[in-house]
Amino acid sequence: MDERSRALDAAHRAASRFLDSLADRPVWPSASLDEMTEVFGGPLPASGEDAAELVLRMAADAEPGLVAIPGGRFFGYVIGGTLPAALAADWLVSAWDQNAGSSSMTTAAVALERVAGRWILDLLHLPETASVGFVTGAQMSNFVCLAVARRALLERRGWDLNRQGTSGAPPITVVVGADRHGSVDRAARFLGIGSDEIVAVASDEEGRMRPESLAGVLAGVERGLAVVCLQAGEVHSGAFDPFAELIPLAREHGAWVHVDGAFGLWAAASDRLRHLVAGAEGADSWTTDAHKTLNVPYDCGMAIVRRPEDSVAMFRTGGDYLMYSTDDPWDRGPELSRRARGVPVWAALRSLGRSGSAELVERLHTHAQAMAAGLRRIPGVSVIGEVPYTQLMFRLEDDEATRELGRAVLADGTAALTGAEWRGRAVLRCSMSSWATDQDDIERTLAALARLVRAILG
Ligand SMILES: *Cc1c(COP(=O)(O)O)cnc(C)c1O
Repeated sequence: MDERSRALDAAHRAASRFLDSLADRPVWPSASLDEMTEVFGGPLPASGEDAAELVLRMAADAEPGLVAIPGGRFFGYVIGGTLPAALAADWLVSAWDQNAGSSSMTTAAVALERVAGRWILDLLHLPETASVGFVTGAQMSNFVCLAVARRALLERRGWDLNRQGTSGAPPITVVVGADRHGSVDRAARFLGIGSDEIVAVASDEEGRMRPESLAGVLAGVERGLAVVCLQAGEVHSGAFDPFAELIPLAREHGAWVHVDGAFGLWAAASDRLRHLVAGAEGADSWTTDAHKTLNVPYDCGMAIVRRPEDSVAMFRTGGDYLMYSTDDPWDRGPELSRRARGVPVWAALRSLGRSGSAELVERLHTHAQAMAAGLRRIPGVSVIGEVPYTQLMFRLEDDEATRELGRAVLADGTAALTGAEWRGRAVLRCSMSSWATDQDDIERTLAALARLVRAILG
């Protein structure tokens, strides 16, 4: 075999070994970042090395620093694993090495992304004429959508942002919920919109924006100059903003409405859960991730914009050597050259079909409810809130004991949960996001938690 075939073969074997170990390996890594840096570091060697050999050694050396994210008992952050079809397609994306920025050349890759985008709009019950920009994640999608929103609002005011810039422009106010994801503020900051230009609307105990508070905030903002950022799926409680009440209020005020639904927009794929996103289709732009609920590899977010011409007006570039068509991926986001990250989305959706996509989301919800029910049976544990979707949180009576439980879970290795604060109290979050989680994973996690709670509470 030539060097390339041997290297790919080595990667395949190393990948299979890792994936086969997921059922029983500790979820959290045993080596620290400094220890892993030591393993891989040292000065750059003077001469090169055989690709297959270095790949096998890299994989062996990485072992103690790998997290079992693709396994069934990683419940930290909001992450998700990788469906087999998506993983295999992702390997092909690298092997093909297609630059998916332009439509003029890499026709297969761009067509796969185009079809994936159409399927996504259909599955998420969003307007079929909206544009779908494949970006690295929900953070970048929030950035893209806010950038598009600001330019479009200013255009309606007769201000040409691309020519005149922001200095002296009518001031845009970003209106957010008190429990929005931090990436919304960060996206605003990338655009030169400071925290004083962001107004937070009060939310209820589950984290949903209150309509009467939105009305009050909008009354103090000039008509047509607000971007109202709503949320489908709060990362602690899983709660959804009441879109059907909020969006008409924002519309009356001439605002642009953006919905951050990194993992929550997927509720629309299920007949049983769609009620959670009722009304969200009335927004102007939407953020979602495929690397969360759809379980494709990083990096894959989607920036969805109702009027494709608004994206093009924001992102079209110049350059005599670039070929343009009327429908180029680089018109929907900030990148020019990029990998064909939407191809695994096509593969994931093709492997699931409509029914499998609905079933995946419903299973995550059912598992979250089963985990909540099991937690409620452990003496000393309180589950907070109703668990409407795939996220849940719980705590012990004492905050320090809750934090101690968080550390003990990671050290134990059976499962991974991450801690947070909710309404001033320490909590542990459990995010049900992986296709790989099954009933046995839930039982093993609950057994470990019961044992660790007993040890802490004595
Ligand atoms: C995860 C998440 C983000 C950020 O997504 P990335 O893919 O990590 O960039 C933004 N908003 C919400 C609601 C999220 O859950």
